[in-house]
Amino acid sequence: MRIAFIGLGNMGGGMAANQAKAGRQVAAFDLSADALKRASDNGCSPVGSVAEAVKDADVVITMLPAGPHVRKVYADEVFPNAPRSALLIDCSTIDVESARAVAAQAREQGFTFADAPVSGGTMAADAGTLAFMVGCDAEAFPRIEEALAPMSRVTIRAGDHGTGQAAKICNNMVLGISMIGVCEAFALAERLGLDGQAFFDIASKSSGQCWSITTYCPVPGPVPAAPSNRGFEGGFAGAMMLKDLKLAQDAAAKSGATTPLGAQAEALFALYERLGFGGKDFSGIIQLLRGDLKALAG
Ligand code: NAD
Repeated sequence: MRIAFIGLGNMGGGMAANQAKAGRQVAAFDLSADALKRASDNGCSPVGSVAEAVKDADVVITMLPAGPHVRKVYADEVFPNAPRSALLIDCSTIDVESARAVAAQAREQGFTFADAPVSGGTMAADAGTLAFMVGCDAEAFPRIEEALAPMSRVTIRAGDHGTGQAAKICNNMVLGISMIGVCEAFALAERLGLDGQAFFDIASKSSGQCWSITTYCPVPGPVPAAPSNRGFEGGFAGAMMLKDLKLAQDAAAKSGATTPLGAQAEALFALYERLGFGGKDFSGIIQLLRGDLKALAG
């Protein structure tokens, strides 16, 4: 299977490497020379343009920063140069409107397209264990699942075009809100003289149980792999969470949905970023709620 992989950044680099590791021919393109070099070290064939990458592709995969990049790359470079038989899959996290617009253009031009954003972050991208949420025509799904397999732990069809992006922003809105709730609870527990480990032991087996407590606990100790144990370095950047919450708020405004807690979460993560901590893991928001930013500044 010949893969064209466009966008070899923090996520795309590892994803393209896993396609090559699975024995697929990967023609890789990025605007960054460093990213191209890494792709070459990982078994991909670097090329000089999107047009060159897609010209003989069976599958085109894009992993780009945001909606405008995706619209432009497809309109200017993928549609005019890829064979009509190529399966086009955008794995970037973008607005639902852009995903649907690109899907409509793809259909007009005779291509099969899917929006397939991911959950899992850079560690899962490197390990080939991402969760894909896919918006596509039902009959196209088996081909899409096969194309994504080397990068995937689980691939689920969400529905028609745009619903993959809808699933991604709704899921991350839950995550942003739940993390703030968990952080507030740990900060209150401390004020009340309740030990963090004791609260973890109880809440993780009670009705407050959720991923933000059991897998990603924002206080160090109970979950050793969580970023709270390493000064909130690495993990899922607050700026990324803010991007997803903005997409959710934008979608809520356009669709008429009422999401007051999503709006509050967006405002808090915007403050986190403005204070200079957008590069820190999103669970570091606990320090803002504690009123103690020293632990983040180090
Ligand atoms: P990144 O900025 O590291 O990578 C994006 C890459 O796209 C860059 O290398 C950039 O040079 C390249 N690029 C931009 N325009 C291009 C063009 N016209 N042609 C070719 N390459 C181009 O970002 P990332 O962290 O890899 O994220 C990519 C997408 O995945 C985003 O939409 C992000 O929201 C989403 N995502 C990221 C994470 C994460 O933890 N980083 C998790 C889930 C989803």
